Amino acid sequence: MQIFKVGGAVRDRLLGLPVTDIDWVVVGATADEMLAKGYRPVGADFPVFLHPKTGEEYALARTERKSGRGYGGFTFHASPEVTLEEDLIRRDLTINAIAEDDLQNLTDPYHGQRDLEARILRHVSPAFAEDPLRVLRVARFAARYASLGFAVAPETLELMRQLSESGELQALTAERSWKEISRALMEDQPQVFIQVLRDCGALKVLMPEVDALFGVPQPEAHHPEIDTGLHTLSVLEQSALHKQPLTVRWACLLHDLGKGLTPEEEWPRHIAHEHTGLKLIKAVNERFKAPKDCQELALLVGKYHTHCHRALELKASTLLELLQSFDVYRRPQRFEEFIGACEMDARGRKGLEQRSYPQADYLRGAAQAAREVAVQPLLEKGFKGPELGEALKRERLKALKAYKDRASA
Ligand code: ATP
Ligand code: MG
Repeated sequence: MQIFKVGGAVRDRLLGLPVTDIDWVVVGATADEMLAKGYRPVGADFPVFLHPKTGEEYALARTERKSGRGYGGFTFHASPEVTLEEDLIRRDLTINAIAEDDLQNLTDPYHGQRDLEARILRHVSPAFAEDPLRVLRVARFAARYASLGFAVAPETLELMRQLSESGELQALTAERSWKEISRALMEDQPQVFIQVLRDCGALKVLMPEVDALFGVPQPEAHHPEIDTGLHTLSVLEQSALHKQPLTVRWACLLHDLGKGLTPEEEWPRHIAHEHTGLKLIKAVNERFKAPKDCQELALLVGKYHTHCHRALELKASTLLELLQSFDVYRRPQRFEEFIGACEMDARGRKGLEQRSYPQADYLRGAAQAAREVAVQPLLEKGFKGPELGEALKRERLKALKAYKDRASA
């Protein structure tokens, strides 16, 4: 049997980037031979094994044929006769279809090195269209390598467009899609992921609520970029520049969905978009079965981002309601993420990226003031049950009034 390094490990070494996980392909072996050498099988009918010592993935060279809709609709054929070239041709991009032996000799039948040099993301063969997940993968690689100058080849974008129009994207499971989406959002240029999906018509299928934001104007005085879709891309870009966690990036993507529902007569104003957007945010959350913390933050940011922007003008009672809604006493981290998302929203405006955002520290201070109200004295006064809750609220309100006075002094 012959063993080759493939995929990301070869690609990233050639790009001069650090290599984290290594994928291997094994040519000329049977599953039984692998088991005899101590490799552990990954799935029941999937020809992939884990190395007994390193735990790295070793896949038998295989060919694939599409036999139905979606990912389940694949038949794999792995046998010792399958050649390296046959295995490489079923891979998504030419830059991912280079194999390397232990002497660093490259096998590159589909000219991946040429495309690496030319900074092109190009599909290997028309079989690309057999797995719609590749649309998301290409958009994710575009986001990852945008800063190196990579772009999607026009003919690949065209195939992605056909796939998007064919209805095949709907066959993707929430789990497979979310894995790509969440990884793409964590790249350095997550806005490129959304832009590429939009360019090929996939955004309209996957997240029509986000797609609908393009072409929707906002008031130029607050939003020099005007277009709500472009604003959303900038907010996402800022979230990566400021190294925000996934929860915040997801909330950034969805915070303005309500603006897509505003009747044209009301443009460029978007009265109550924070509320109209909630059902859309919920729908997107559920479509991709986003993790609970992502879902929760997206809804809270959607509902309250305007509160954050107006923090310095809020009455003490409104501040208190906001802090109570976030349960800042037990969930300080979530409130911090909310503030982060709102700051990205403010910075995701053309020409205002560097403007300071005093609302952030102001709200942090307010949360601190409310948190410092001690329960013990109230217990000592004999409050309990709902009355204790009310007394606590009164004390917190007092503390917030004092905080406001101090801040404006
Ligand atoms: P990463 O750095 O994200 O791990 P990678 O290219 O190694 O990038 P993997 O998901 O680890 O990506 O897959 C390893 C290789 O398997 C890819 O480089 C590609 O050749 C192939 N591959 C993985 N998923 C698909 C797919 N859905 N369609 C076609 N080829 C795929
Ligand atoms: Mg890999």
